[in-house]
Amino acid sequence: MCGIVGYVGKGNAAPFLVEGLKKLEYRGYDSAGIALINDGKFVCKKRKGTVAEISDAADLCSGIGIGHTRWATHGAPSERNAHPHIYGRFAIVHNGILENYALLKEQLESDGETFISETDSEVVAHLLEKFYCGNLLSALREVTEKLVGSYALAVLCLDQPDIIVCARKASPLLVGVKEGACLIASDIPAIAGEGVTAYLLGDGEFALLNAAEAKFYSPQLQPIRKNQLEYDPLISSSDKGGYVHFMKKEMSEIPCSVRNSICDFATKLKFSDFYQVLCQTKYIHIVACGTAYHSGLAVKYAIERLARVPVEVTIASEFRYSNPVICSGTLAIAISQSGETADTLAAAKLFRAKSVPLVAVTNVSYSSLTRIADFVLPTRAGSEIGVAATKSYNAQLTVLYSLAIALENAKGKSGKSLERLKRLPRLATATLEAAETVRSWTSHFVGARCVLFIGRGADYCAAVEGSLKLKEITYLPSEGYPAGELKHGTLALVDERTPVVVLLTNKRLAAKTMNAVHEAAARGAKVFLITSIAEYLENEEVFASVLIPQCSEAFTPLLSVIPLQALAYYTAIACGNDPDKPRNLAKSVTVE
Ligand code: GLU
Repeated sequence: MCGIVGYVGKGNAAPFLVEGLKKLEYRGYDSAGIALINDGKFVCKKRKGTVAEISDAADLCSGIGIGHTRWATHGAPSERNAHPHIYGRFAIVHNGILENYALLKEQLESDGETFISETDSEVVAHLLEKFYCGNLLSALREVTEKLVGSYALAVLCLDQPDIIVCARKASPLLVGVKEGACLIASDIPAIAGEGVTAYLLGDGEFALLNAAEAKFYSPQLQPIRKNQLEYDPLISSSDKGGYVHFMKKEMSEIPCSVRNSICDFATKLKFSDFYQVLCQTKYIHIVACGTAYHSGLAVKYAIERLARVPVEVTIASEFRYSNPVICSGTLAIAISQSGETADTLAAAKLFRAKSVPLVAVTNVSYSSLTRIADFVLPTRAGSEIGVAATKSYNAQLTVLYSLAIALENAKGKSGKSLERLKRLPRLATATLEAAETVRSWTSHFVGARCVLFIGRGADYCAAVEGSLKLKEITYLPSEGYPAGELKHGTLALVDERTPVVVLLTNKRLAAKTMNAVHEAAARGAKVFLITSIAEYLENEEVFASVLIPQCSEAFTPLLSVIPLQALAYYTAIACGNDPDKPRNLAKSVTVE
């Protein structure tokens, strides 16, 4: 969360910083700011709100500067709490959480220091001023030794106005080098470009940048050589491509993400270590957060159905403190779009510590999760900027379904699953078209007291993701619930101001799900049906419906979620919200 950028070079820093921050805005948009050094002084512009609020700062002149777009953890979003934080000779930007900041601040205050902001980050500028004796890197190292928590830091010092120094622990930081300039950023889109060589700063490492070169140092400040980062050009592109919102653009890319993410592991990896591990797998344990957790739920259904291997799915933030029981023969799967989700990383490390083979499912090939996993199954969704995940969910399902098919094969149960999976990109295109119908439903959702999403089996897995999408970008209270469970409590919520969205793609369970439709309609609720079974379209208790294509039962969430994503998108617009920038949220949750 939060994006940081830096520039030192022969050109002008400010336009790069402002443009770079715009590309990182998906990481936070509570406030934005840049600091430059000009004529031996800091020039700083900070504002509450999005990067657009500091656009005019692009006209400032300087060859060196740092910038920040914030997702507040400590202290309200305000100009005062916006980064960069300046104290004495230092300006700093920080991504992460300093867990011991209160103690450090108390000590500094008792030494007579005065703080301007309520952030945890400001202590870094004060500590630098305290420890600096002419060597910037040594001072930064001394400061980081005092810090508990996570950080990516970039520092300017008036005494050395041609240098940026950086440090990183648990929050991502990349360095870019091009002719006449060095750059830093939290993510590739901000630095990618022609002639830019990118490097990933490792945990505990430091970097020193000037206009001519970037030097890297170990945690003990020994010079180190770094390999150039290979990055996916798909990940680095971040424009709206003619769409009004990234979310809509990214939904339109679902068929392509699915097509690119299909993998025939069973044939491709037949004699590999990975395939051997699959052959020996007796249990699967999936850890993830948010939408990725819902991918886990959906794939549990597919793996148990296709390969008959039992699967447990746990929310990563719960798993990491749960002292879990792990059976021998377990294969662990950690799912994270960014590969930087702090809770998922911690849960994955627990598996590693217990020598459980770890599979990473992630969209970012150079992420922290990728680097700790035994096996990496990349989703090929391309860059996802909308904070509410869409195409990355469909891509995660595709990769995980591919894994389910490989497991099916490894367990000697080969069937026609791969052929069925390969039909999904085409069916996703048809589903996107059908999903446009939900645009006319939004007036029944705006102002609703609560929205329920219900389904059974695989439909339930899509229902919970549909509910999360709606919550995230419309702020309407909603619940995703098993259709059969409604009568055990949640039915008490239902009245005429409670739209009920019903997913119905399973013929075997359809009559049972229809019981819930009757129960909801009898209490005055309007029922909105998403189904692949035409005979239910005209049911008199259904207020509105959309017909989606049929597909193999194990894979249905990949399609049925699409109208739910569209419903959240159009309802958010009808509510007057920006679907790309939901309040209080940001993408890439690098804090605990
Ligand atoms: N903890 C810092 C703040 O609240 C940085 C937040 C972040 O990295 O998202 O300003």
